[in-house]
Amino acid sequence: MVPHPTALGESLGRGTSVRRWGLRSIPVSARAFLLLVECCALGLTTGLVLAEQPSRTTLIRFVALAALTIGYGELAVRSERMKRYLGSDKVFANPMSVWSFAAVLTMPAGWAAALIAVQYGQVMLQRRRDKSGRPYRVVFTAAAAMIAQLAGAAVLGAGGVLHGPVMSSLAVLVAVVVFTVVNLGIVLTGIWLTARPPSIRPMLPDLDALGYELATLVLGIATAQFLLHTAALTPVILLLVAYLHRSSVVKALHHAARTDAKTGLLNTTAWVEHANGVLSRSERNGAPVAVLVVDIDHFKSINDTYGHLIGDQVLIAVAACLRHELRGHDSVGRFGGDEFVVILDELDLARAESVANRLRTAVGSLRIAGCEPVTASVGLAHAYGDCEPGDIKQLLQRADVALYLAKSSGRNRLCTAGSGVS
Ligand code: GH3
Ligand code: MG
Repeated sequence: MVPHPTALGESLGRGTSVRRWGLRSIPVSARAFLLLVECCALGLTTGLVLAEQPSRTTLIRFVALAALTIGYGELAVRSERMKRYLGSDKVFANPMSVWSFAAVLTMPAGWAAALIAVQYGQVMLQRRRDKSGRPYRVVFTAAAAMIAQLAGAAVLGAGGVLHGPVMSSLAVLVAVVVFTVVNLGIVLTGIWLTARPPSIRPMLPDLDALGYELATLVLGIATAQFLLHTAALTPVILLLVAYLHRSSVVKALHHAARTDAKTGLLNTTAWVEHANGVLSRSERNGAPVAVLVVDIDHFKSINDTYGHLIGDQVLIAVAACLRHELRGHDSVGRFGGDEFVVILDELDLARAESVANRLRTAVGSLRIAGCEPVTASVGLAHAYGDCEPGDIKQLLQRADVALYLAKSSGRNRLCTAGSGVS
């Protein structure tokens, strides 16, 4: 699959002059790299298209794949916009390579690379309609995809001397790997040179994205087979891809609806749903359960003294710290403001209190650039498997009262409902 243009940013700008493309805002080394990649892509593709006299079959396949890619682009325009809006803009975020990899497998290299110009030409026009983003990013991503097409085609060309179904399948697999590695390598180098400070980690594709990428390349192979043997059925792939893409947007929406955007923790609704599940389990097993409410001390004055941006950094750091200190299945949520909630299952009171104090100490040891150290107070409510799912409210209320006691007893301490301050 071709990396999504948003891998390098958002979308197109209002103006078309190079100044408005935002190129001036990136380092000279990045500009030089972008120019080099674009010149190589354009030079090689043009040279090969001019050198390869296309057969009638090549032209028909080119037109068919161009129609499919444009048809898909129009069908998926809304879900693509939604994905960008949700911030799902990692590398490998759309299925364009279903068509482009099919081109690698069914036509001469130059023509396969030229299909990318059609795909990204359409993206440019769509982004222009959206009136946002930076065209240089789309152009660079297209150039990277062209070079990847050529590299994949070169592998297949070299594999052409191999005979037998096993060997030619092997050549296709190697082409898939080379196509992906070249594409990813060029785009990540561009991101690394462009980002200040250099950072590619947030853009790295995760396992899901790599799986998605592999799936689209396999669909590209299927599209090529259709095109070679039963061309009339090729539009079926278009509908399949549009459906799959739409489902991935639904997944992204589901994730966004359950996540606190600032900290990445569960939001209130998702945490309550999860906590109710834990309560049902503990009621069935008669196992103990504890709810903690963690609230940063004097957070308002952190905001007032250092500003809201630093305040946000504190929230993000505290969230990461809580997550890091807990077991994988102990869910942390943000209830808004500077208040976090945790549910611990299968821990007796003494162990739950020890975890709560460990969290409090860990927050106190955090060092956040540009800000004084912060502390947190914790309220704890404990139950012995006698809570029904709806009781989460009651547990939360008890933990909240305990938190109030911890605050009024001087802050930076733990208070357990029904016990006292420690
Ligand atoms: P206490 O020790 O009693 O908890 O005092 P506090 O100052 O921390 O009081 P409180 O917990 O009520 O303060 C919450 C503050 O959090 C108020 C609000 O301005 C701030 N806040 C809420 N949401 C955000 C946010 O997303 N970012 C930032 N930076 N501040 C937020
Ligand atoms: Mg507070």
